[in-house]
Amino acid sequence: MGGPVGRKVLVVDDSVTIRQQLRMALTPAGYEVIEAFDGEDGLAKAKADPELVMAICDVNMPRMDGIEMITKMRECGLTLPIVMLTTEGQPALIKRAKAAGAKGWIVKPFNATLLVKAVDKLAT
Ligand SMILES: [Mg+2]
Repeated sequence: MGGPVGRKVLVVDDSVTIRQQLRMALTPAGYEVIEAFDGEDGLAKAKADPELVMAICDVNMPRMDGIEMITKMRECGLTLPIVMLTTEGQPALIKRAKAAGAKGWIVKPFNATLLVKAVDKLAT
């Protein structure tokens, strides 16, 4: 089992299916999942909740994409670790995400065990 009970992880994705998959992987590992449906919602929720230990975010979302959301979080002084969800074969995108302040990336479709391992490593 993963981290201490109730550590909050922000999950930002416009796909309800992906949000549910992340919730199903993280909840049994002891994380409390806070969902946001796009970058704007994610940014607002991150600003409002100092208890978040990390964020997992999609790239392509309406209103505000993942790269812009990370950039804005860093501009507001939010330092929580962020992992990007990508599809395979997007090295240029990963480079941009890292430059914006992402700590790493997870390729979709993700393996739940590996996802929890990555979250355990980054959630502080
Ligand atoms: Mg998307």
